[in-house]
Amino acid sequence: MKKQAATGLGILAFLFLLAGTVTAQQDLPARWDELTASDWPKALEKSAHTCILPIGILEKHGPHAPMGSDLIQVREWAARVTKKEYAVVFPDYFYGQINEARHQPGAFALPERVVWDLLEATCDEIARNGFTKIVIINGHGGNPEFLRYFIQTRLEKRRDYAVYFFQPAADSAFSASVARLHQSDPNGDSHAGERETSVLLYLRPELVKMDSAANESGANQKRWSIPDIYTAIWWYASYPNHYAGEGAKATRQLGQLITEHIIASLAKALKAVKADTKTLELQKEFFDKVER
Ligand SMILES: [Zn+2]
Repeated sequence: MKKQAATGLGILAFLFLLAGTVTAQQDLPARWDELTASDWPKALEKSAHTCILPIGILEKHGPHAPMGSDLIQVREWAARVTKKEYAVVFPDYFYGQINEARHQPGAFALPERVVWDLLEATCDEIARNGFTKIVIINGHGGNPEFLRYFIQTRLEKRRDYAVYFFQPAADSAFSASVARLHQSDPNGDSHAGERETSVLLYLRPELVKMDSAANESGANQKRWSIPDIYTAIWWYASYPNHYAGEGAKATRQLGQLITEHIIASLAKALKAVKADTKTLELQKEFFDKVER
């Protein structure tokens, strides 16, 4: 009896401890806008001075998926990954390059210099608040060129913070699992197509209108082609409906597979960035030479 009582007490103590840990974790939100001033130093320390900047966009996603599809995805990745690997998450950011959707409803396309200055000022402000590492996670296919150029120009003048861009590499085991579930032509499956719609079906099914997914064509219209040439109108020429692929073939199962894979890759990348000291060290060495 005595032994049983002791075991019971042990279990109770363990449960209290566990509850304490869970409460402590919930006490420190990841989102910048949910943190208090008194918790700010704790958040800086726990994140190793790392802030995630999730960048989405507002644009038409075929006839069936929400305008903020890209924002919804990056917001969810950030929310889920920081439960495994803590970092502070900057609130909703949906200002990027989206000129190619301006002929469609819902596109929020700011002037180019506003987009640039806003991102620069945002990074500077994040850094002024104590962060030395900013990890951009991007959900919008029209942004990477702009983001890479923005990051390259961080070497233009000395900065005491580094910007990292999360770009998950293709992995053959994952591609094979995707291929097993995938039903439409993988080559034409892009913006609001089977893959992206599947992810939305997994994250926010109530926002996807599957019965209208086949109301417009997401096929490549092939109205423009000059070999070895890139030009701005290529996307409009190919996909004037701002829809590429077949959203109607989407499944929640495929969306779950893709999302979990991205979150696992992001957790690994975030852990490495938090432990990284080399980037800032080399950046300092570089500027010391530039300014010599
Ligand atoms: Zn999208």
